[in-house]
This record gives sequence, structure tokens and C-alpha cells, in this order.
Amino acid sequence: MSCVLLKAYDVLHGQKARTAISFEDVAAVVNEYLLAANSTPVRGPVLRKSDTPSGGTDFSQIPHGPRLVPRDALLDILHTHADTGRCHIKTNKKMKSYIQEDSGSLTLLFEDGSDFTADVLIGADGWCGKGRHVTSNTVRDDIQMTAYDNVFDADGVAPPFDGPWVAEVPSSQIAERFAGWEPDLVDLLQVPTAASRWAVHVVHPLPTFATDRVCLIGDAAHAMTPHQGLGGGQGVEDAYILARLLGRPEMTASDVPQALKIYDTVRRPASQTVSRQSLVNGLTYGFFGVEAKALSLPEIGEELVESCRWLLQDRGAEKEWLKAKSALAAALERCKDDPASPNLLPGTGHREATVCHHG
Ligand SMILES: Cc1cc2nc3c(=O)[nH]c(=O)nc-3n(C[C@H](O)[C@H](O)[C@H](O)COP(=O)(O)OP(=O)(O)OC[C@H]3O[C@@H](n4cnc5c(N)ncnc54)[C@H](O)[C@@H]3O)c2cc1C
Repeated sequence: MSCVLLKAYDVLHGQKARTAISFEDVAAVVNEYLLAANSTPVRGPVLRKSDTPSGGTDFSQIPHGPRLVPRDALLDILHTHADTGRCHIKTNKKMKSYIQEDSGSLTLLFEDGSDFTADVLIGADGWCGKGRHVTSNTVRDDIQMTAYDNVFDADGVAPPFDGPWVAEVPSSQIAERFAGWEPDLVDLLQVPTAASRWAVHVVHPLPTFATDRVCLIGDAAHAMTPHQGLGGGQGVEDAYILARLLGRPEMTASDVPQALKIYDTVRRPASQTVSRQSLVNGLTYGFFGVEAKALSLPEIGEELVESCRWLLQDRGAEKEWLKAKSALAAALERCKDDPASPNLLPGTGHREATVCHHG
């Protein structure tokens, strides 16, 4: 089975036409990511109220930190595993569109005039992502600071944004937005010599992540606000479930639509819940609406810790995989029992025609 993962202007596809891509490679990459991540636990962030010249106070701490993997390390891992002689990595290729052939296969058309035939297309082409707050984390020897400046209309809706999504700006521009806050923070914001401004865009909840042999993962499916630091991690979980589904030994090209629907059934609700919670956290970090709820600082802290509680539990992605695995086994069993009949997908409550593989 051949697969194209549309990502970072890279196209991965099997060397042996229509047979070669190994989803085990992708699963191994994700496993290595998790192992590497386990090796660098960091302290949970301290939550501090800093928006006055004096009287700032630490009001809570998330019990454990996230597990960090620098992006360049992750790219190294991906590259090492993908470049095994069984995959091609093509850079600087931009996909324009695709055509679904009568046979079910997909013809992908690129801006440079080239095309490629694939059994599956995984769209990972991203998106580009609410009062003010500042976070920092270390990346190798550097400290990376992110200052958030949430802008809302009076009715609490983010207004449309017309400017460039990413722009280099003088670092003084960011410091000016936090004038009058605690002196330590104001001093810290004088330190950076370079700064860029990002407009955070989100994908509103999609009704599906998959259609026939094409699916979306990562930000393309669920770009979210960055207030739980989970957008990238959710993309990795998408890849983990999808890789394991498509990597089953019994999987063939004609089973792909079924596998993608199961991926959608498992990953869409999970990632959309994280996205909703991230938005709520961002509002809370900026103290939006907390007066209306009449919450004290410790109560706000407890709310934020609660919102992270599920993250502290192990093996969430494994549980999702077990769900996906049994749904796949049941679906394939139904196809085997009654090849002519349309398949009843788990959780959809209605009958859908799917292509089943026989023999
Ligand atoms: C300020 C900020 C802080 C964040 N902090 C965290 C954090 O701490 N932890 C975390 O997990 N996440 C975090 N995120 C979210 C994280 O950055 C994203 O969720 C993640 O980068 C999404 O990855 P992706 O691969 O889905 O998409 P992207 O990273 O957007 O990659 C998509 C790629 O597809 C390419 N592409 C687009 N169109 C085409 C085409 N037609 N053909 C070929 N290629 C194409 C693009 O050039 C791009 O390289 C943060 C986001 C922001 C904005």
C-alpha cells in the first residue's frame, strides 16, 4: 500500500510502487518520541499574578511539567526513521489538489507539475494558529518566552484579523504591552533581542477528519489555542493511532476508508475536547470572566490544575489505540462474514456503504 503524508513540503512515499510504505516506521518514530520525552521531565509551571507593579503572587503550580522534546530533536528522529531506504522524502513540493480515480486510488498534483498516485492521503498541512500573559520554557541553553495578548470584542468574541499571520517585530513593542506589570517581568521582557508576533488562528470543530481515503491530522484537523501546550502533542497522537491502524498486517488499500473512519471516531472527540479546554484555560490565564464567577486566586489555580489532571495519567494514547483496535477488528470481521453487505460503523448509528477487502 502506498501512502502520501503531506507535511512540511515533504512528501513521503514508498519506493516500491504501491507496496512499500511501512506504517511500523511511523509508529516507531512516535514511540521513540515518547521515550525521548520521558527522559526530560520538567517542573510543573508556577502560576503567578503579575499584572500590577507590586503585590504579585504565586497562586498555584501544576504538579508535573510537560515532557519536552526540542523540535529539532524530533525532526532528527523522524528523519532517521523515515530515511530507511523504504521511504522517500521530497522537500519543496507543494500540493495543489488531488483527484480520486474510479479505482479509488488518488492522483496528487503538485505545483511543480509533477504527480503521484497513492492509496491514502494524510493532510498534515497545518493552519497557523486569549487577557495578556507570559510563559517561558527552556529550549536547550536558551529561554524562549511567549507573551500572549488576547483581544476580544465586547461580546467576548475574537475579532477578525487582517494583518500578517507572522511578523518580525521590535522586541520593545512586546515590552511596551506589559508596561506597569511587575518590575521583574518588565525587566525580563527587555532582554530579548529578536521577537516575532504570531496571530493565533484556530480550526472550529470539524464534522469529520476523514473522507474515503483522505484524512486530516494535526493542526489541519484541530488547530487550537496554545494555552495547554498541546497542539503539537495532539498531532502526534493522531499520527500514533493512524499509524497503528494502517500498519495492521491485515490492512489493505481497500480497507483504508474503514480505518480512517475509525481514526475519526477515536481522535476527533478527543482532540476537540482538548481544543475546548485550551480556549477555556487561555481565558482563565487572562482572568477573563473570573469576576463573573467570583473565584478567588486559589480557586482559579485549582480549576487550572484540574484541567491538566488527565494529562498526568499515563497511557492515554494506548487506551485510544485499544479502542481503535477493537473497532477495526469488529469492522473487518463484519466484512468477512458478509462481504456483500454495507458495513455498520461503530458509533455512527447508521449504515454506510464501505469497500471491504475480500480474499
Ligand atoms: C505560540 C504557540 C505556542 C505553542 N506551543 C506548543 C507547545 O508548547 N506544545 C505543543 O505541543 N504545541 C504547541 N503549539 C502548537 C504547535 O505548534 C502546532 O500544533 C503544531 O506545530 C502543528 O503541527 P502540524 O504538523 O499539524 O502543522 P504545521 O506545524 O503548521 O506544519 C504544516 C506544514 O505543512 C506545510 N504545507 C502547507 N500546505 C502545504 C501544501 N499544499 N503542500 C505541502 N506542504 C504544505 C507547511 O509549510 C508546514 O510546514 C504552539 C503553537 C503556538 C502558535
